[in-house]
Amino acid sequence: MDSLFRVPRYLYPALLAAFLAACLLDVWLGRGPWIVAVVACAQIVLLVSLFRHQQRTMIEAVNHATRQQHERYMTRSRRLANQLRDLRSAAGSLPDAVVLLDRDGRVHWFNHASEHLLGLRRRKDRGVVLSERLSGSELGQWLADGAREPLNELAAPGDPTRQLNVMMIPFGGQQRLLQARDISNLARLEKVRRDFVANVSHELRTPLTVIHGYLELLDPEDIPELSDVLKEMRAQSKRMGQIVEDLLTLSRLETQQQLPDEHVSMDALMATLRKEAEALSQGRHTVVMENDAHVDLRGSSKELHSALSNLVSNAVRYTPTGGTITIRWQRSDEGATYSVTDTGYGIPASHLARLTERFYRVSSSRSRETGGTGLGLSIVKHVLNLHQAHMTVQSEPGKGSTFACVFDAERLLEPGSRPLGDDDEDGLD
Ligand code: ADP
Repeated sequence: MDSLFRVPRYLYPALLAAFLAACLLDVWLGRGPWIVAVVACAQIVLLVSLFRHQQRTMIEAVNHATRQQHERYMTRSRRLANQLRDLRSAAGSLPDAVVLLDRDGRVHWFNHASEHLLGLRRRKDRGVVLSERLSGSELGQWLADGAREPLNELAAPGDPTRQLNVMMIPFGGQQRLLQARDISNLARLEKVRRDFVANVSHELRTPLTVIHGYLELLDPEDIPELSDVLKEMRAQSKRMGQIVEDLLTLSRLETQQQLPDEHVSMDALMATLRKEAEALSQGRHTVVMENDAHVDLRGSSKELHSALSNLVSNAVRYTPTGGTITIRWQRSDEGATYSVTDTGYGIPASHLARLTERFYRVSSSRSRETGGTGLGLSIVKHVLNLHQAHMTVQSEPGKGSTFACVFDAERLLEPGSRPLGDDDEDGLD
């Protein structure tokens, strides 16, 4: 280990030599050890002053280093404090409401937007349990239920005229961040879009009916030179009429929150679907029916018929002559599944995710040739959503497709049980 007191390397031999020389001098002069005493004193003074000099230098060096370290530390703390302040003021001025919750769901911090959107108060609501603070509101119930899935389009507790999308984000182990986004403008735009489509479709309906009516009056045989033109005009006006009807159906389904809860007999519906498939096919396909589920559905018979027959119509339209169309109604793990399998053209995998978008077609020409509007699967999706059901598609180009509608057990009814309204507890487990 280094000694604290450092002396030049030559000093000790020099001191020793001086001491020995003083001893010799004293012996030679024979007047007592006064030269040794003087030399020893001088050496002590020298060593002490050397030590003090080094001590002072060391203390100054230590002071200097401590000062620098302190300054560095202070600069870092100032920078951290600034960053924290910036972060807080950025989060504070976010248009979304942001609330930090601790592991017990108590409010740790919230921003300005939380005051007017969630109705929190700066001084009073720090430390309160948020689900209790908002109890009685939809948001409070969602928090009390564990806030697992994001919540869409709920009225803001602090301002019921505004609509929110809310989600919970876990962070830092056991803390959570509640984010509520004001989507009032988006919702308003969406409503404007819906109203526009519905109004345009409605306005087009009457003139189209008139045009179609006059075209029906003109007999191609009376004007043979215009026969082809007339046939094309009739086909196109019929297609336009169908597009308008489908758009109106979609608008109605979009604005509807709930459908009537009727007892839909699946045996009867399956028999109707089979007849429709055979009528559409006109003997060009083999139609097979597998009705093994022996359960009925709870929902709107009109809308369910429209959705399920849409899939049959697609299977007929997109399967070449000689193909087979199988319509099934079977029990499944989730409840029951209605499916239509065809041996038709099939759909490449890249298109599957977009099939239910409005006017999305894998092949526009094939859709038009077969009288398609491009809205059928959109309607199916909406009808299924309103029945808490969903659609799955499996398809292989050149081999065929299976479109399946999966219904939960809560939607199933015993065949022949009383119609709903008399007894609401007919659902099967
Ligand atoms: P369309 O009126 O054009 O049939 P849909 O919304 O019913 O509109 O279907 C969207 C597109 O999905 C169709 O244009 C077609 O390309 C494809 N499609 C739907 N059903 C089938 C099927 N059974 N086989 C092959 N393609 C299909």
